Amino acid sequence: MNTPEAPDQQTSQSIETADCSSSSSQGLEMAAASATDGVAAAALSSVLQRVKQAAERSGRVPDRIRVVAVSKTKPVTILRQVYDAGHRCFGENYVQELIEKAPQLPEDIQWHFIGNLQNNKVKPLLTAVPNLAMVETVDDEKIANNLNRVIGNIGRKPLKVFIQVNTSGEESKFGVEPAGCLDLAKHVTRNCPNLEFCGMMTIGMPDYTSTPENFKTLANCRSDVCKALGIAEQQTELSMGMSGDFELAIEMGSTNVRVGSTIFGAREYPKKQTA
Ligand SMILES: *Cc1c(COP(=O)(O)O)cnc(C)c1O
Repeated sequence: MNTPEAPDQQTSQSIETADCSSSSSQGLEMAAASATDGVAAAALSSVLQRVKQAAERSGRVPDRIRVVAVSKTKPVTILRQVYDAGHRCFGENYVQELIEKAPQLPEDIQWHFIGNLQNNKVKPLLTAVPNLAMVETVDDEKIANNLNRVIGNIGRKPLKVFIQVNTSGEESKFGVEPAGCLDLAKHVTRNCPNLEFCGMMTIGMPDYTSTPENFKTLANCRSDVCKALGIAEQQTELSMGMSGDFELAIEMGSTNVRVGSTIFGAREYPKKQTA
């Protein structure tokens, strides 16, 4: 059980205007990068400042809150600008996209996988992305077992995981029901030696202000699990809060906020295409 490591963002570091000198890029990515040159890095800087203020308002230590820059659908040239500004933690939702991007970017990036992970994608993901730092979306025993087994087979170091909880009861959301999170946490801690249980993650309803109970539910799940397993609460994390609600999530105890559009701008293609 690890305490949340200090995130790598450097709030004090001045963010320089990123240049376009990143090596290989295809025409399209080049165009996208120059159109938004430096914008993402500046937006990140402002997010880090807001995180710091939210932490201070709620008596938390700012550098114990990790900002996952959610870069799905964004070209590597723009990720590179954010990397060059000092950020090291990035989140992706799609296995294929992560497999394509990771080798084009420095190895000291800590990738968080935050999408729904299918069992048949576990091996390609772990094989192609040795610097995968965390899977935030473990939501049943089968995916835990598969991750555990493949890690054993390929001999990589243990993988940090969060258990994803469906706190909003929406059918469209993945995650274990709150009532099932203790059993799943027991399974991971007792039967999956290659996984390091680090806490709980939730998405929740998009509009935080109408549904603060989703974040409370996640915090309650953590309390129950920690009590039952004899773990100190401060040694486990809460991953909650996105662009629209990360400051409020921090005030409610989040240690890991996943911020996409506020850093990178609106997504270029929707999560799910409906006909
Ligand atoms: C896309 C995504 C985010 C980031 O959402 P924004 O609203 O763009 O900040 C965070 N978490 C998950 C699981 C996501 O899929």
